[in-house]
Amino acid sequence: MSDADLSSHLNDAGFETRAIHAGYAPDPTTGAVIPPIYATSTYAQDGVGGLRNGYEYSRSGNPTRTALESTLAALEGGSHGFAFASGLAAEDTLVRALCRPGDHVVLPDDAYGGTFRLFDKVEQAWGLTHSPASVADPQAVAAAIRPGETTLVWVETPTNPLLSIGDIAALAEVAHAAGALLVVDNTFASPYLQQPLALGADVVVHSTTKYAGGHSDVVGGAIVVDDAGLAEKVGYHQNAIGGVAGPFDSWLVLRGLKTLALRMDRHCDNAERIVDFLAGHPAVSEVIYPGLESHPGHEVARRQMKRFGGMVSFRVTGGEEQALAVCAATEVFTLAESLGGIESLIEHPGRMTHASVAGTDLEVPADLIRLSVGIETSDDQVADLARALG
Ligand SMILES: *Cc1c(COP(=O)(O)O)cnc(C)c1O
Repeated sequence: MSDADLSSHLNDAGFETRAIHAGYAPDPTTGAVIPPIYATSTYAQDGVGGLRNGYEYSRSGNPTRTALESTLAALEGGSHGFAFASGLAAEDTLVRALCRPGDHVVLPDDAYGGTFRLFDKVEQAWGLTHSPASVADPQAVAAAIRPGETTLVWVETPTNPLLSIGDIAALAEVAHAAGALLVVDNTFASPYLQQPLALGADVVVHSTTKYAGGHSDVVGGAIVVDDAGLAEKVGYHQNAIGGVAGPFDSWLVLRGLKTLALRMDRHCDNAERIVDFLAGHPAVSEVIYPGLESHPGHEVARRQMKRFGGMVSFRVTGGEEQALAVCAATEVFTLAESLGGIESLIEHPGRMTHASVAGTDLEVPADLIRLSVGIETSDDQVADLARALG
C-alpha cells in the first residue's frame, strides 16, 4: 500500500489505529516501524534547490517532527498539525500569526496561568488587549466580544483548577457571529476525550507536556487546524519564529500519543473511583468533577466529551491548614505542579499553580486541592488519599 493510500484509508480508521499508524509508514530503506530520531540540522541537496521530500533545514522541517505533526492532525481531525518546543511557544506563535496590534482577545476568566501571563505581560506590550469571560457562560463571552476588534475567542474546557465546562459548539457560534475565530486549548481533555474542530472550533492548541506526551518526560506544544489558509499562516510563523519541537522531544511526544487512548481510559477509571471515595468522605466538603451530575457543566460535558478526564478537584472541611497537610502527606500522589502524566500528582492551587492570582477575582479557594490522577493501581491511590485525609 502506498503512503497516500494508507493515509486516505486511515482517515476513516478508529482513534487508536490512527494514533499508531497515521503520519508514518515503515521507513522505505530499513523498514523501521517507528520513526527514527532524525538528529540532523541540515539535508544534502541533489543539485542546488534539489530537496529530498522538501527537507532543507530542521527549523523548517524534520522527519521526526513531521511524523508527530501528521499524527496530531489525524487525532484532532484536522488537516495540519504543528509541533512546538512548549505549549506557550505554540500559543505565542498562534497569536503572532493571527493577531495584529489593536486586536482584542477574549480569554477564560480562569485561564491557565501561563496563558494569562502571555497575554497580560507579553502580548499586551505589542498592542493586543484582552478581557476575561467565563467559558461556562456563552452570553458572558458574547458580551466580552468587541465587534470589529476581537479576533480570537480563547477557550479552555475543562478549565484549571475548577474544571468548568465550556460548550464548544455554542462558543463557536458566538465567536463566528462576531467574525472572530474560536481557539480551544484541548490540553485537559486530550483529543481522545474531546474533538473541538468537529464541534466548530477553528484552532486547537495543546501543551503536549501533559496528556499527549503523558509520561512527564518532555515539554512540548501543538497547534492543529482544519483550514489551508490558517495552516499557511501558522506554518509560516512556526518557521519564521522558530520555536519548534526538536527531534528527540518530537519522538517522545509521538511515543506518548500511541498509548493515549489506553492511558486516558485508565486515568478516567481511576478518577471516577477517587471521586466516589471523596464524595463519601467526612473531611471533604465538595468534589468538583464534570462527571458528577451535580457539576453545573455535566450535561454539556456529556455531550462533547467521551469521558470526563483524569483531573479531580476537591475542598476539605478543615480549611487551608488541612489542605496543605493533605498535600504534604500523600505518597502515591507526588506533590508537584503539572498534570497528565502516568504518575499521580497532588497540589494546592492557592499556594502553587494559582499563587499569582491571589487577591484578584481569579483567586481560588484556600481549602482546594487538585489531583492529576495517574494510572497506578486504583486501590493504592484510594488508600493513599484515605491515609492523608486522616
Ligand atoms: C501546561 C499548560 C499550558 C502551557 O504549556 P507548556 O507546555 O507548559 O508551555 C497551556 N495550557 C494548559 C491548559 C496547560 O495545562
